[in-house]
Amino acid sequence: MTFQELNIIEPILKALDEKKYIKPTPIQEKAIPPAMECRDILGCAQTGTGKTAAFAIPIIQQLYKQQHQGKQRPIRALVLTPTRELAIQIEECFRHYAKYTNVKHGLVFGGVNQNPQIEKLKKGVDVLIATPGRLLDLISQGFVKLDAVEHFVLDEADRMLDMGFIHDIKRVLMKLPKKKQTLFFSATMPPPIAALSKSILYKPIRIDITPESSVVETIEQFVYYVEKEDKRKLLVSLVKEAQKDSVLVFSRTKHGADRIARILCRAGIGSEAIHGNKSQTARQNALTNFKSGKTRVMIATDIAARGLDIQDLPLVINYDLPDVPETYVHRIGRTGRAGKTGKALTLCSQDEMSMLLDIQKKVGITIPALC
Ligand code: ADP
Ligand code: MG
Repeated sequence: MTFQELNIIEPILKALDEKKYIKPTPIQEKAIPPAMECRDILGCAQTGTGKTAAFAIPIIQQLYKQQHQGKQRPIRALVLTPTRELAIQIEECFRHYAKYTNVKHGLVFGGVNQNPQIEKLKKGVDVLIATPGRLLDLISQGFVKLDAVEHFVLDEADRMLDMGFIHDIKRVLMKLPKKKQTLFFSATMPPPIAALSKSILYKPIRIDITPESSVVETIEQFVYYVEKEDKRKLLVSLVKEAQKDSVLVFSRTKHGADRIARILCRAGIGSEAIHGNKSQTARQNALTNFKSGKTRVMIATDIAARGLDIQDLPLVINYDLPDVPETYVHRIGRTGRAGKTGKALTLCSQDEMSMLLDIQKKVGITIPALC
């Protein structure tokens, strides 16, 4: 199936073509047609499956077709996402896909001065991309009104719940008109998420993209059984072996991430760490450097890395094992995105064996060992 066959309008097709998207991903193929008919969607798909375009394209297209007539430009679409990094990424997508339309978007997230965000809002935006805290802040100060919202997206709903945003989401929902389109996306569907989706969706089209197709097929997974004290040496040699390739290293803790950065630095390998103790600007700079290839190695904690979209990331290394098997799937999902192949290496010490067994149960394979 092609994008043309999904009846996407010319200005968006042109932008997709520039992005070198050849054909829609499975979730785009399934979600775009009903979403363009203003149906509610419940999309359950792992990271890297192309969810952003699955909701952004129908929203841009609907807004483009029914342009607002009045003088004021009210917010007509709201995208809620849990982290600043994700909000920025979604904004980049809207910027690309809406390039040849007159659909305007704005971005609000916490941790930075609110004034530039307010200035942008005053000029009028059709689509607002926001994290919950800052959004509620701006609503209470009277800078944001949501009573004209026609399309609402809840992105990474399970992550929202993990991060304790459930009450914030409910407060935002109360500000939205009853009649609207809701597009709901989550990587997993635990009972509280299923309950939330049920309460906010009207006759949704349910789309499930099974993890098998998005994880196992495009990502080669290997495990190294290694003594704890030998992990440093192994990491350095794996990173060196990768030569010029970008490498994302995961650490369970913030201190661990900083320690790994120091180990690599001593070995003469430039790297940057991103985690919650770093300022928003520092995190964004590190990410930009990593994406552009200026920094070859980035070390991240799970919260900082969740959902990050990095093009051409051939290698992910788990310096330690996550205690929640689901997190492993999210970590390795940073590589092998959109059909590209990737490799995920996990360093497992004796005391982490039980976590590895849980992970293998989750991914349904015995991860092959390299030593
Ligand atoms: P998700 O939100 O499901 O984690 P994203 O929307 O971030 O996934 O998309 C993952 C990556 O795939 C991005 O780099 C995006 O540009 C790319 N992508 C999305 N759709 C397509 C497509 N149809 N063809 C090629 N690449 C795509
Ligand atoms: Mg996403």
